[in-house]
Amino acid sequence: MPRKKAGNKQGKQEPQKKRNKRFQSVRGMRDILPKEQPYWQKLRKVVEKIAIDYAYGRIDFPVLEDKELFERGTGKNTDIVDKEMYKFKTKGGANVCLRPEGTPSVVRAYLQHGMASQRKPVKLSYSGPMYRYDRPQEGRYREFFQFGFEAIGEQDAILDAQMIQMATRIFKSLKIKNVALHLNSIGCEECRPSYNNLLISYLNNRKKSLCMDCKKRLNKNPLRVLDCKEEKCTQVVGQAPQTVDHLCGDCKTHFTSLLEYLDEIQIVYSLRPQLVRGLDYYTKTVFEFFTEDDEGAQSALGGGGRYDNLVGMLGGRETPGVGFACGMDRLVKAMKDNETEPYLLPIPKVYLAQLGDSAKKKSLRIFEELNKAGVMIAESFGRGNLRTQLRQANKINAEIVLIIGQREALDDSVILKDMNSGGQETMPAEKIVKEVKKRLKKNAVLAKRIAKQKAEKEKKELSKKKKAAKRKSKKK
Ligand code: AMP
Repeated sequence: MPRKKAGNKQGKQEPQKKRNKRFQSVRGMRDILPKEQPYWQKLRKVVEKIAIDYAYGRIDFPVLEDKELFERGTGKNTDIVDKEMYKFKTKGGANVCLRPEGTPSVVRAYLQHGMASQRKPVKLSYSGPMYRYDRPQEGRYREFFQFGFEAIGEQDAILDAQMIQMATRIFKSLKIKNVALHLNSIGCEECRPSYNNLLISYLNNRKKSLCMDCKKRLNKNPLRVLDCKEEKCTQVVGQAPQTVDHLCGDCKTHFTSLLEYLDEIQIVYSLRPQLVRGLDYYTKTVFEFFTEDDEGAQSALGGGGRYDNLVGMLGGRETPGVGFACGMDRLVKAMKDNETEPYLLPIPKVYLAQLGDSAKKKSLRIFEELNKAGVMIAESFGRGNLRTQLRQANKINAEIVLIIGQREALDDSVILKDMNSGGQETMPAEKIVKEVKKRLKKNAVLAKRIAKQKAEKEKKELSKKKKAAKRKSKKK
């Protein structure tokens, strides 16, 4: 059938209106919509609770930082800084970047605000967006969110163990199962140079089999070759000398005591000689947490380690530190994969309906009064139709519906409809807060009693069933 041409009443064609351009979010960056938020809210709550339990104070730092902070801290030759950092010059000519990670910023703030004079360790936690210009794919974004914990000023391995314990508790609270902990020690300034020489000579003999990047890395940062994901490099690296076999006395003792602490708190770990974490500031302990999805693909949920030289590298007095960060986007995905219950928003038990212009005005005031008194209310102020509003009240299972019509608006009263009993009465608007609170309290007591009776009944039935089963098995 031929389509009717759109036209006005006289059949004339309207000139086509030019539509303004619609925008999309920038590649690799995304909106997190309200329906996703309950997962994020749950995650934030769990992380906040751990921060309180372990006495970590929250710190927020700018998204924009001096580019050199990461070049010096994270390392100029690391992928994060060399290939993935968003960097630009400001109008004033300052070289800045979008933060690709949190640790150097935390240390910068620690030094800038004289936290070095505080009681050690200084314990700080943060969360927020990070930026890396990598190829976007599932679970990898150019803007992603991390939370992290840093403890500055203590070198005892108990702090390393506590970091791992905290991360593990977060995964458990989020009901994320099958998280594997990969662990290694990459030594310190004392033992690393001789190990590096050993590794360079091993790799030099096999240079032809390495990828282009690793050929370049080989002399500058040979440790990075160890965690290259290229197939041909992983084969070469499989037989390479291992850092743990070349630790100095101090690093060896540190690593052994970390393992003992982990055994004590029954945290299972898997020693990974190839794990180096790729950043310049790590010393001694490095660790990473992995989860497996349904297809068996591994994804890193988070990682961390010790950074005993970072404070010194950023201009402070040599001070040890340890920390970890987790990817929140990936944790949210893992929560969904594990069917973790998201944060449940409280549902209002009272619905406020209005009919007519003057009633609408009154309802805005009543809403605020009830809200101030701590009563959550639902409404659809944009709707004028009472039936639609009552349907909405039913949908949310409201216990009380308040109705303000033309008459009620005139004599400053409200109709209170009790949805449990079905009864309704009109009362002065000034009494409504007290009355609603009284009824909600009564309903709550009643609901508690009913739940208790139900639980007792179920308990009795269960014990009856158990007794019957016992009798049956005795007869046999
Ligand atoms: P890293 O600072 O690289 O050790 O990252 C810590 C955690 O942040 C990782 O284990 C991931 O869970 C998460 N992460 C890192 N990069 C990204 C990214 N591009 N997109 C999403 N999550 C990321």
